[in-house]
Amino acid sequence: MARREADPVSFPHRYEDAGDREVVALLSALLAFGQVQTIRASIARVLASLGPSPARTIDTIGEASLGARLEGFVHRVYRGQDVARLLAGAAALRRRSGSLARAIEVFADDEAIEVPPALASRARLVRVLVGLGDALRGPPPHRRGLVHLVPDARRGSACKRLLLFLRWMARPADGVDLGLARLSPSALVIPLDTHVHRIARNLALTDRADASLRTAIEITDALARLDAEDPVRFDFAICHLGVSRQCPSRRDRSLCERCALRDVCRHWR
Ligand code: SF4
Repeated sequence: MARREADPVSFPHRYEDAGDREVVALLSALLAFGQVQTIRASIARVLASLGPSPARTIDTIGEASLGARLEGFVHRVYRGQDVARLLAGAAALRRRSGSLARAIEVFADDEAIEVPPALASRARLVRVLVGLGDALRGPPPHRRGLVHLVPDARRGSACKRLLLFLRWMARPADGVDLGLARLSPSALVIPLDTHVHRIARNLALTDRADASLRTAIEITDALARLDAEDPVRFDFAICHLGVSRQCPSRRDRSLCERCALRDVCRHWR
């Protein structure tokens, strides 16, 4: 529970209503970029501007009003207007499909969304990434900050934060993830950041050096050999091993002694 409280996923858990949870999950996952304390402060700043029910607020006020509430907001390369566009896109999706959870399910089944051939083996998942990305960014031209805030899977991005949102939404409610969308956990791909990539290489889950969506898929396929139904259930533990700096990525008797992964770590074979 302490690790959950230090993680951005703690924010959606503060709300009872499923609509609030999904909106706060989207916001929290997509702002999860940079230092932990800065991320938490930025999410809290946006939530403070959205009142007690973020879903009701974004459903009832427009992008201009959201932008006014977020005037002066800066998180890395993101500005208040980027977050306002994101939230307006989320509200449009909720109007169209009834909820973000339902929108995810619809995108997963939408044969009309083009998927790059290289990623065809994960077509349902890539359709969700492409559909969500297009809907949340809205029509071009896009600001640089907005393009980074909501990445495009067709351009090879690992889409780490969108995949984190999908993990939270689609994995069963286990005290960390939320279990709101009916997308099979077997379709998910691990959200790949530098920590997960480094530890995945330690564990010989991949040899690939690039932090791309293809590498994320390769790692997920390796994890599927341990649990085909729910390969990304290991993500929270792997990520926090990296964030806590308890993995030195080399033989270190004092740090590695307590590591549960030592038997499968390439530094100890
Ligand atoms: S055994 Fe050591 S190097 Fe290997 S994963 Fe564990 S902490 Fe990291």
